[in-house]
Amino acid sequence: MTRRRALVIGGSLGGLVAAHMLRNRGWSVTVCERNTEELASRGVGLGTHPQLIAILRRAGIDFDESMGIKPPRAVCFDRRGKILIEQPTARTLSGWSRLYRALLDALPAESYRLGRRLVRIEQKGGTVTAMFADGTSERGELLVGADGVRSTVRGQFLPDVQPVYAGYIAWRASIDEADVPPHLWRELVELYAFCLPEGQQLISYAVPGRDNSTAVGRRAYNIVWYRPVDRDTLADLSTDAEGRHHALGIPPPLIRPDVVAKIKADARATIAPQIAEVFCLAAPFFQPIYDLVSPQLVFGRVALAGDAAFVARPHAGAGTTKAALDAACLADSLREAGADIDAGLARYEQMQKPFGRTLVEVNRAEGAYLSAQLKPKAERTAAELHRDIGAVVRAHIDRSDQVGNMVAAHGLSALAL
Ligand SMILES: Cc1cc2nc3c(=O)[nH]c(=O)nc-3n(C[C@H](O)[C@H](O)[C@H](O)COP(=O)(O)OP(=O)(O)OC[C@H]3O[C@@H](n4cnc5c(N)ncnc54)[C@H](O)[C@@H]3O)c2cc1C
Repeated sequence: MTRRRALVIGGSLGGLVAAHMLRNRGWSVTVCERNTEELASRGVGLGTHPQLIAILRRAGIDFDESMGIKPPRAVCFDRRGKILIEQPTARTLSGWSRLYRALLDALPAESYRLGRRLVRIEQKGGTVTAMFADGTSERGELLVGADGVRSTVRGQFLPDVQPVYAGYIAWRASIDEADVPPHLWRELVELYAFCLPEGQQLISYAVPGRDNSTAVGRRAYNIVWYRPVDRDTLADLSTDAEGRHHALGIPPPLIRPDVVAKIKADARATIAPQIAEVFCLAAPFFQPIYDLVSPQLVFGRVALAGDAAFVARPHAGAGTTKAALDAACLADSLREAGADIDAGLARYEQMQKPFGRTLVEVNRAEGAYLSAQLKPKAERTAAELHRDIGAVVRAHIDRSDQVGNMVAAHGLSALAL
């Protein structure tokens, strides 16, 4: 019997997990990624959750200790570098590229095609045809749009659904262990560290290094620093030295030297000196934070998944976990529906739409005090005005319970067994 064929558009984490889950359920899968070379990490860290690890195991990827680092203590530093709060923690922190590599290596090479930029989709009688910028096309019985927040797939079916800027950005920095002064490394390596200046949030921790190693001497340090930025300032930050404005995100090497110098000066003035010192040794870059909610996930034989479907602010660190749950739900729904692909897709939408919405809402509430910094004080609600340092740290420590509760409440627990 010929295997049913699925096309997955987008070859990042969401697309790769979808490819594995569908293959496990008997589909022949081709992943089409617009980039011409394998995706390169910016060395950034990635929080994991037990559900992600369980789904990776379903894909045959044994997520062991070598894939992440587990700092035993969460602390919050004050501006002078003194510990304000200290709590035990047990989160496993990995790296984007650690997961990408593992997922890609476990896929047959011929299933992953680079340089295939989708421009349009056509559907007829249960067949979906993907057309690419190079003039080629591919056909299948299913197309999964895992092409991220600016999804071309979503754009064709829901042109008015756009990401909404949350009013703050995440400055990110990653630096090799070898480049961190040893006394700072010793102080920070065992910590899941917070700095919470008024209206801002910084989280930092050790992650696997450039070669994805967690061996001593080859790890890296990762910093994520959320800061409110109004739209005019964001436009300025996103304008390069030649005066070109990069509305869809400025590539890190094009961030102007004066912008980098300013954020480093702000780091020295605002955050704990031990973290500021590490931050200033790195080449920081930023990502604007968005909310995105798709009112519909399925269009004939086309399904949206991962960030193409919903983008939740990254506070729960669950974007990849959600993409993995989407993938597992899609594959399982299709298997349960047998020959009736449309019924399987309907079930997928019915399950993942409420979950995606909840994840966006929970993270929006958590980032509300960051968004609110751009409003006059009189217009802020009490919750937006005051955020309790202990509660922020506690929320991060309890994160996996929170995500687990959401997964259970939406009837998705069986996906991650
Ligand atoms: C600051 C920040 C911190 C984060 N931290 C975490 C964390 O700790 N834990 C976590 O789980 N998640 C985190 N996330 C979220 C996470 O990165 C994503 O949710 C997750 O990786 C799922 O992404 P995706 O594969 O759906 O989309 P993406 O990673 O955006 O991939 C989309 C892919 O589609 C390709 N593509 C786009 N258009 C086309 C086209 N027309 N044709 C072909 N290919 C195309 C792109 O090149 C890209 O490779 C964070 C996000 C941010 C912004």
